[in-house]
Amino acid sequence: MTHDAAARLAAFLDELEGARRGRAVTLVVVTKRHPASLVRELAEAGHRDFGESRHPESRDKAAELADLDLTWHFVGQLQRNKARQVASYAHVLHSIDATSLVDALEGGEPGHERPVRDALVQVNLTDDPQRGGVDPAGLDALAERVAASAALRLRGVMAVAPLGEEPARAFERLARLAERVRAIDPDAGWISAGMSGDWREALEHGATHLRIGTAITGNRPPGL
Ligand SMILES: *Cc1c(COP(=O)(O)O)cnc(C)c1O
Repeated sequence: MTHDAAARLAAFLDELEGARRGRAVTLVVVTKRHPASLVRELAEAGHRDFGESRHPESRDKAAELADLDLTWHFVGQLQRNKARQVASYAHVLHSIDATSLVDALEGGEPGHERPVRDALVQVNLTDDPQRGGVDPAGLDALAERVAASAALRLRGVMAVAPLGEEPARAFERLARLAERVRAIDPDAGWISAGMSGDWREALEHGATHLRIGTAITGNRPPGL
């Protein structure tokens, strides 16, 4: 089983090579609910960027694989009271969706050295305010808040395509929102979009970071 993951990674990288048309794309392999041994196998195959969505599972995996010098991307919903813990091991935070999270990330004992983390503002592309991500109307204010933070480096935007809508249409909207964020900081040009089922559409609309789980890892074991 895990043996197959390295083969699926190689096959995916081949497909991506054909689709990316010379653009630089970061492949984040999302390994939530899979054991650390699967991450280790993909790392041995040469992969470095991995995504996780739940603390403390993500913390435990990062600790177990600390010898590998991996780049960890936190792609799940961030809770305010866990945010600083997550930022202690996750190098890239894809899901900043409230100023309260930025406040929390800036907190802590004065004089305590903290790494500055790359941050993406997650945008809610649905009409349902319960879903993760900031409403597009609040995007600029939140991006400005992140850009001004000493705890974070504003890098761009992240989104999940809504169910029940053509992903291409949603990613087109995201590309326009990404332009607004890039106007705030020219270094904030990352677009984290595209999962196993819609990564080609995301790539067509400018995704710089794909978050791919099942297409590479196989089905996830049942979770909580
Ligand atoms: C699980 C997850 C993914 C990967 O999804 P797949 O459909 O398995 O590729 C991508 N992004 C987020 C935010 C996730 O939670």
